[in-house]
Amino acid sequence: MNKEFYPAEPFRIKSVETVKMISREEREQVIKDAGYNTFLIDSEDVYIDLLTDSGTNAMSDKQWAGMMIGDEAYAGSKNFKHLEATVQELFGFKHIVPTHQGRGAENLLSQIAIKPGQYVPGNMYFTTTRYHQERNGGIFVDIIRSEAHDASIDIPFKGDIDVEKLKNLIEEKGAENIAYVCLAVTVNLAGGQPVSMKNMREVRELTNKYGISVFYDATRCVENAYFIKEQEEGFADKSISDIVLEMFSYSDGCTMSGKKDCLVNIGGFLCMNDDDLFNDAKELVVVYEGMPSYGGMAGRDMEAMAIGLRESMQFEYIQHRVKQVRYLGQKLIEAGVPIVEPVGGHAVFLDARRFCPHLSQEQFPAQSLAANLYVESGVRSMERGIVSAGRDRKTGKNHAPKLETVRLTIPRRVYTYSHMDLVADAVIKLYKHKEDIKGLKFVYEPKQLRFFTARFEEI
Ligand SMILES: *Cc1c(COP(=O)(O)O)cnc(C)c1O
Repeated sequence: MNKEFYPAEPFRIKSVETVKMISREEREQVIKDAGYNTFLIDSEDVYIDLLTDSGTNAMSDKQWAGMMIGDEAYAGSKNFKHLEATVQELFGFKHIVPTHQGRGAENLLSQIAIKPGQYVPGNMYFTTTRYHQERNGGIFVDIIRSEAHDASIDIPFKGDIDVEKLKNLIEEKGAENIAYVCLAVTVNLAGGQPVSMKNMREVRELTNKYGISVFYDATRCVENAYFIKEQEEGFADKSISDIVLEMFSYSDGCTMSGKKDCLVNIGGFLCMNDDDLFNDAKELVVVYEGMPSYGGMAGRDMEAMAIGLRESMQFEYIQHRVKQVRYLGQKLIEAGVPIVEPVGGHAVFLDARRFCPHLSQEQFPAQSLAANLYVESGVRSMERGIVSAGRDRKTGKNHAPKLETVRLTIPRRVYTYSHMDLVADAVIKLYKHKEDIKGLKFVYEPKQLRFFTARFEEI
């Protein structure tokens, strides 16, 4: 391996869950029954589950203790007070509206901040985020730097917004026709690529000039902060929480999926500084989520989230987190397996275009690669390519993203380096007989967010 320092797990294991490996014949039957969609495989039939880092976090003993002091009153729960104070302190926003998960916050924000026909520029799309923007009449425009669409360009801060693209869009459409800028830290579908502090500052300066708001998709803000500390000049000596606070100081609010960096299994929230917008959000949250003091979460879940958010800012935790992902990526790179570079914060993305050059994008190479990896090894991953991108709402044509990837997403505090070794060996083995991977075709295609429940068969 290269000279990179890989720290040992900064925790010891107090409770374990046994996993089992079923036979290859059984796995072949399972994937057929699941319509070649890894979302439709039973968890019991999975050996190592890298489907997602969402809600798959292992909680700490302190968080479990927090679960016992859940205040399940319908209104005014003390756990909400704790969560609110924690978010205000760590993120620096004035208001917080709890939601059942990230998309609940996206739904609220899209409804209150987008007028039909307005543009919503963002650094690459995310599935649920774009869905809610478009459902509310918004027009998503991708303004990420162009390099982000090329899996093989290894540069830092590949998630940055192209400020020139943003400026041109504002001048062309007029500031009044921009709902807000949606800035994701990190950029999930670009490969977990971070955004630099410099870029956040520049986006703030530009939008201030035009009076346009900026809302962050804060889902992996702590991972983003680690990259800034590690790679951006002037931040090496700053604490993770100082960096997070500065990041958010260049925004007007954020949506948060608590299922990622908050180190819990469920939950989310919406933040903002504006009092009127907060009022609008509170009026809507009771329709979709629950009272403004729980928003779809149990009191105990809010307590675990408040504790988890603080734990996530510990340097030892986040360093190990990002390095463990890098360890897996580095092993694959050294074996010549094509992946999205540089390795991002939460996952290693296999580049299915180069992995399966014998398949066209219409044959769903990433979908098939994920299915084949499961059969090979019992490792579950996820397609992030043409199937996830869905169809254009107007023309009905497939969005054809440049990045056609399989995501190996690492849950937080769940697996060890040995598990990463096993996953790397499985991928490398599959790569050696990649020609056996066949294309797929739809047998069932849902109208919305099709990747979750679509079914396929081999061509
Ligand atoms: C997971 C995720 C969301 C949506 O959050 P949920 O909690 O799954 O509803 C939004 N944006 C990004 C970048 C995500 O990864």
